[in-house]
Amino acid sequence: MTLVGKKALVTGGSRGIGAAIAKTLATDGADVAITYEKSKDQADAVVADIKRLGRFAVALKADSADIGAIQTSVDRAAAELGGLDILVNNAGIIRMNDLADISIEDVQALLDVNVRGPIITSKFALAHLKEGGSIITIGSFFADRVPYGSLGVYAATKSALTAFNQGLARELGPKGITANIVQPGSIDTDMNPAHGPFSDPMRQLTASGRFGEGVEIGHAVAYLASEKARYVTGTTLTVDGGANA
Ligand code: NDP
Repeated sequence: MTLVGKKALVTGGSRGIGAAIAKTLATDGADVAITYEKSKDQADAVVADIKRLGRFAVALKADSADIGAIQTSVDRAAAELGGLDILVNNAGIIRMNDLADISIEDVQALLDVNVRGPIITSKFALAHLKEGGSIITIGSFFADRVPYGSLGVYAATKSALTAFNQGLARELGPKGITANIVQPGSIDTDMNPAHGPFSDPMRQLTASGRFGEGVEIGHAVAYLASEKARYVTGTTLTVDGGANA
């Protein structure tokens, strides 16, 4: 229970890794707000799960590509939680296509949700975060290794987060706020199912021989948000079953 009394906002917390992060933070003692874009029923189910743990939870509809919605959701999260200690930039999308074939709309959506979203969400969160706070951004092991050409644009959005995070850590260090990235490998979600069309080659990339579970990303996030990680900032924690080994 390393996060008792902490207040966390997790973007894209209705499904997959974000839902697992939200529930892991709550299991460790935090109150949690999540955002979602489309999956209201699943967001409500995550809130119910967290409340069963005895923690406060709220779900806020906010498209991470919509700057106004981001601002409203960050401010509402802080108001409902009674402050903000932890921001987890998790919401993300994938579009797989070679550059020759990918649409301009898909390039724009990737940049808006995966890059501008975390940057703007972090910017609005600065008004609420204080000493002891943390920003954790979910990148991807594809920031370091791009095994397929069709992943190039998606991978570029994730590697952009590395430089953003480093600058953020420099800016926030004097305020006692940490900024770090967690880079998942293949985690069994709707985005990357363990039994989907790409699962066998993705599994073969790993040293562990298996897909990871969302909770395994949740534990990494919970560590970076905890007092135990106060000297850890500006860095990247890759949790990929050895896929980049
Ligand atoms: P899923 O597609 O399973 O879930 C995505 C989550 O993000 C949902 O809660 C979804 O909410 C939300 N979301 C998507 N678009 C938006 C948006 N525009 N505004 C607000 N919320 C949005 O993905 P994962 O859980 O697998 O991925 C989560 C993060 O982890 C992403 O950043 C992804 O890039 C990263 N990642 C995932 C890996 C994997 O193997 N699964 C590997 C490496 C990185 P809703 O349903 O309500 O739209």
